[in-house]
Amino acid sequence: MSDRIHVAIVGGGIGGLAAANALLHRGIDVAVYEQASALGEVGAGVFIYPNSLRQLERMGLGAPLARVGAKVGPGSEYYRMDGSVVGKILTADSSGWNGMYGMHRGDLLQVLAEAVPSAAIHTGHRCTGFTQDEQGAHLSFANGHVAHADVVIAADGINSVLQKHVVEPSAPEYSGFRAYRGLISADRLPQWRREAHQVWMGDGKHFMVFPVRRGELLNYVGFVPTDNETVESWSAIGDRDELAASFAGWDPRVTELLDKVETCFWWGLYDRRPLGRWVNGRLALLGDAAHPMLPHLGQGANQAIEDGTALSVLLQACSGGKEIEEALQDYEALRRPRASFVQAEARKNGLRYDSKYKDLAQRDREIANSAQLRKSLYDFDIEKEAIDFRSRRTALA
Ligand SMILES: Cc1cc2nc3c(=O)[nH]c(=O)nc-3n(C[C@H](O)[C@H](O)[C@H](O)COP(=O)(O)OP(=O)(O)OC[C@H]3O[C@@H](n4cnc5c(N)ncnc54)[C@H](O)[C@@H]3O)c2cc1C
Repeated sequence: MSDRIHVAIVGGGIGGLAAANALLHRGIDVAVYEQASALGEVGAGVFIYPNSLRQLERMGLGAPLARVGAKVGPGSEYYRMDGSVVGKILTADSSGWNGMYGMHRGDLLQVLAEAVPSAAIHTGHRCTGFTQDEQGAHLSFANGHVAHADVVIAADGINSVLQKHVVEPSAPEYSGFRAYRGLISADRLPQWRREAHQVWMGDGKHFMVFPVRRGELLNYVGFVPTDNETVESWSAIGDRDELAASFAGWDPRVTELLDKVETCFWWGLYDRRPLGRWVNGRLALLGDAAHPMLPHLGQGANQAIEDGTALSVLLQACSGGKEIEEALQDYEALRRPRASFVQAEARKNGLRYDSKYKDLAQRDREIANSAQLRKSLYDFDIEKEAIDFRSRRTALA
């Protein structure tokens, strides 16, 4: 009998597929179960930052990501709503490495999916049940299928069905904000700074633009307060007139872009307070199932990629039973403080971006100093942290 452990991942989003890549890279056997009939993400952007890009590159994904990512660097700035400059946005880690891309979500998912053997991806599998015993973990699916594994990773998003097997059920918290987002061909805005991440802040809302897909498309997002809870879905069609009206009178660069928008999506912004636990026996939460966060640092997917990398390092030396449970405890001990910090900082950054400050000069000072926070996010090397954690643990044993 093989002593290789087998990991079942529930959820084939960015977090689940990144975890599959990380585990395969370390020789761990995986199966991914996704409820949708096909893998996919709608047209919208996501930032990949140095903290996760260095991990993805080590997994061998550097070249395919470079083919579809958009370089982001020169001209990246924060502005007030009238377009006056508040400060620069840091686009490199402390070593000067510009390890970041603006990505189309579909492109990122495709790169992640293509690196996993197709036989290991099971679409049309909506997980409905989980049990575990000394022999292993057992999953059941709405289509009648059952699966067995040594470890189950719940990468099933903010409304995770598996989360209740780890913590008491609770509802995600609505932020009071709606994000309108979409893509526009860069050719339609010839004067636009093609490689810039630009953020306009003011009047209880904010607007940002960054390039995706080799710079051929611009991803825009308008964050607008609303009393009505908005459906939390990438595919809900937003009202482009309402979006344009929300930013009327802002910097002409913003209003000219919005004049050209024909359709957009909207998305209600939810997060959770940090969970008290992430693991139970053979089950571990990952990504938005563990730590959904507001998008104001662009770190949700990046933190999910860190989670998967940590799990791969910690599970690599396990051959079964007690070792697995200890490795998952270590995963929680290593990851929960970092992700909880980023969750809290994302909330704080939202207050800055939305100008929820009595004294805007104070907001501007904090924004101008935000390079420190970004450095601490970008410089973090979770693979190294996990290896050090495992070595300390072995030395103590
Ligand atoms: C407006 C906005 C902008 C953002 N921008 C960024 C950014 O720039 N950078 C960044 O890092 N993050 C960003 N994020 C956050 C990021 O999108 C999420 O953190 C990330 O997508 C979470 O990935 P996940 O795989 O954990 O969850 P999800 O992407 O939600 O994937 C969960 C998967 O599980 C599947 N699933 C659910 N239930 C079941 C079930 N019962 N059985 C089987 N499958 C199931 C779902 O179909 C889905 O495919 C942003 C978020 C928002 C709202």
